[in-house]
Amino acid sequence: ASTGFPVSEEDSVKVTVRCRPPSKTELAKNSEACWEVDTTHNNIHLTDLWAAKPGTVFAYGQTASGKTYTMVSQYDGEAFGLLSPIDVRIFKALRRTFICSPYFFIKGTEDEPGVVPRAVNDVFAIISETTEKEFLLRVSYLEIYNETLKDLLAPDSDDLRIHEDKKRGVYVSSLKEEIVTSPRHVMKVIQRGEGIALANALFQIGMLAVPTSICTAADRTQCFNWLIVESREKEPGSMPGSPTIQKHNSFLRTDQRRSVQVSQLNLIDLAGSEKAASQTDRRKEGAFINKSLLTLGTVISKLTEDKVSSHIPYRDSKLTRILQSSLSGNARIAVICTISPSHHNLEESQNTLKFAARVK
Ligand code: ADP
Ligand code: MG
Repeated sequence: ASTGFPVSEEDSVKVTVRCRPPSKTELAKNSEACWEVDTTHNNIHLTDLWAAKPGTVFAYGQTASGKTYTMVSQYDGEAFGLLSPIDVRIFKALRRTFICSPYFFIKGTEDEPGVVPRAVNDVFAIISETTEKEFLLRVSYLEIYNETLKDLLAPDSDDLRIHEDKKRGVYVSSLKEEIVTSPRHVMKVIQRGEGIALANALFQIGMLAVPTSICTAADRTQCFNWLIVESREKEPGSMPGSPTIQKHNSFLRTDQRRSVQVSQLNLIDLAGSEKAASQTDRRKEGAFINKSLLTLGTVISKLTEDKVSSHIPYRDSKLTRILQSSLSGNARIAVICTISPSHHNLEESQNTLKFAARVK
């Protein structure tokens, strides 16, 4: 299917490893770093990811290794301005209560924003250069916890189901889609979703009565951001300089005459990979996470094999089933594996590197 965006000839699956710098606690504990980073390739070259504009980006790694930082870190002095004053007070109080900062507060530096703000800015930059077409952008935000789907943009809806049809492929029905018109608008919607994710995480802590931080609670879920870009030629004879970004109905519903191209970008913050090594009090949860991360590894590694005929077990987890249409065919996939520099985390970091090796 045509995507409307330029696609490079490079590999369809890219795997990267990112080692975060030591945290204050690790420095205080004098915890030895056990990974040496090649300074010529220090960090990941985020620009490499955008060779494939349509596709899926995963962040994989143990809790507190930097998945969320890699995905959402954003330099935005005004981030709080996006919330109501009451929200700000609640979140500041939460931050005092829970030592580990929830991903809601993760801030990057100006020259190192995360994948999500970069991707969003890139998409809008391409759109602004493409004046002969018109676009419609839709954002969704979905969470999976224990194989249950939750709509982070419509917290009260509980009728999310996975469907498949010939035209749309595999999709989640009744998932809320918000039409967006600017990068800031997208980030605002995502931040609202994160607020809900945070509330869900707190609810789980309450339910399980496990002393833990929000950070680790949030890491028990898989969070998906979707950005769907529809494009079509402008109406013949339309005014030069007429608006390029539309904000009403999906083109797919409104106009049957002009053909519509649809591309989808999935940005996925996976559950903490150490959860796969199930703890006794949360056996069920660990088993679910284990299965879905394992299935993801199998699916991606099968996709990188040349054998067309081999069976790809998309149906073995909700994560891969939902992504089936995005992963199959001419899809582009990037996996960013994040590891902690600390010796304490050596074993988990090794497991993460094994995953990286397995999917490539
Ligand atoms: P995860 O989502 O994997 O649980 P986080 O993204 O929440 O981990 O990161 C844990 C902590 O480490 C956060 O305080 C975050 O700000 C910090 N951190 C992670 N990666 C980096 C990085 N590359 N540079 C600086 N700080 C980082
Ligand atoms: Mg996280």
